Amino acid sequence: MADGFSGGCQCGAVRYRGARLLDDAHVCHCRMCQKAVGNMFVGLVGVALANFTWTRGEPAAFYSSAKVARGFCRNCGTPLFYRDDGGDSISVTIGSLDEPAKVPLVFESGIEGRLAQIDQIDHVENRGALEDDVPDWAAEVKSGNRQHPDHDTDDWRTDQG
Ligand SMILES: [Zn+2]
Ligand SMILES: [Zn+2]
Repeated sequence: MADGFSGGCQCGAVRYRGARLLDDAHVCHCRMCQKAVGNMFVGLVGVALANFTWTRGEPAAFYSSAKVARGFCRNCGTPLFYRDDGGDSISVTIGSLDEPAKVPLVFESGIEGRLAQIDQIDHVENRGALEDDVPDWAAEVKSGNRQHPDHDTDDWRTDQG
């Protein structure tokens, strides 16, 4: 990825920025990562703590084990980071980045927890874009969208509605 990246949670209460991502983007299939993000796997990419700052708000954290913290927005629940106490880096969730498509995966880990469904994705029915599949619903979501945009904002209410 080019120099500089930013990201944050869905509601916009927590935003972060960094100078350079590490070359370690990965998905982890382990059971603890599944639970931490409530999903089939987690996607993470590291950044040196020296190159990283929270630019709006502060995430909450849950220690899933003695030295491993899992961060999230206390307002909307978006999983934001994995951090090993004592390490010199933090890993942010790839989906919370403003430009997640720009982070090529380098490896997968936690194979003991890898779900069989992962291999089914390319074979299940493809319903296409939401605008085509469920146009009325897509239009409704678009008009009432409270998700923070994929860039920093000067002013953003996190209690909209
Ligand atoms: Zn939030
Ligand atoms: Zn894991």
